Amino acid sequence: MTHIEKFQRELKAGQAALISSTANCFYLSLFNYYDGYLLVLPDKAFLLTDFRYAEAAEREADKAFDVLCPKGTMFGAVAELLTANGAKTLLIEENHLTVAAHERLSEGLADTGVLIVGGAGKILTRLRAYKDEQELAAMARAQELTDAAFSHILSILTPTMREIDVALELEYFMRREGAQSIAFHTIAVSGSASAVPHGVPRNKVLEKGFLTMDFGARFGGYCADMTRTVVIGRADAEMKRLYHTVLQAQQTALDMAACGVSCWALDLAARSIIDGAGYEGCFGHALGHGVGIAVHEEPRLSSKAPAETLLERGHVVTVEPGIYQKGRYGCRIEDMIAVMPDGRVHNFTKSTKELIEI
Ligand code: ZN
Ligand code: ZN
Repeated sequence: MTHIEKFQRELKAGQAALISSTANCFYLSLFNYYDGYLLVLPDKAFLLTDFRYAEAAEREADKAFDVLCPKGTMFGAVAELLTANGAKTLLIEENHLTVAAHERLSEGLADTGVLIVGGAGKILTRLRAYKDEQELAAMARAQELTDAAFSHILSILTPTMREIDVALELEYFMRREGAQSIAFHTIAVSGSASAVPHGVPRNKVLEKGFLTMDFGARFGGYCADMTRTVVIGRADAEMKRLYHTVLQAQQTALDMAACGVSCWALDLAARSIIDGAGYEGCFGHALGHGVGIAVHEEPRLSSKAPAETLLERGHVVTVEPGIYQKGRYGCRIEDMIAVMPDGRVHNFTKSTKELIEI
């Protein structure tokens, strides 16, 4: 079943949905564009754009969509289509449409009697958590490029590089090898900066100690996300202990990950290894998150996740425990795994986790 078919099945008679975010427009239409809307009814779908995108949309978008270039305003066209198709309720992306756009939409629909309600965002968040074979294949390729970038950086990494050099080399390599773009801002932080889970690479020569690199390629619209931590200089006994505690926490969660396991329980298992080794309070974020068109999606592997949220077929999540000691250093190791259609867990990330000293 295609993405648009899955979504249309969620709509009741008399309902329509206006899709405004780039990510959800791409998910449903398979066409990547940055200006326009999708209008979806239970049995019809329209892609509203302008002449800049129209030709490519005709070629690339799912054939379920009629491509339209409205002569007047977008919301004027939406009003006409809703009236012509007998829609009574319009679901919007409650987590995306701006207040300003909502005001214009309300004005545009004033004479139609159509009720504007939220809800499209919630449906799409749920649907997007389950990846199909094509999406899994795109993510596997995105992770291959990301793994290759890690091998590349290991082959050129020296203690005299700056943090921004490390980040740029990773990004340039991924783009050159075929990534559509980077999936998110690359993190490459060393020394005391490694104690900040989401630090920004500095125009500064690598400090001795841990170097954390968190990066990913985007391929075919889908993200990869991985982290590896290496040591600049030599690791002392305490650094080795910390590194191996993170690794053990990750391996425990990876071993436990299976179709039907509670997302909350996975976080707890990894956390108890870290807490049990004397690092209580040093693992200040969730164990992992879903990945897809966005780098952060459902489900969350979090102590705050409802106990009934289970790892299911089609879920792709990261497993990324870390230990951060403020003012000192930090370390994180992140893989991206999927529950495949046959129920088996597959780890996309192939890069070594041996403690590497540069
Ligand atoms: Zn990451
Ligand atoms: Zn992540």
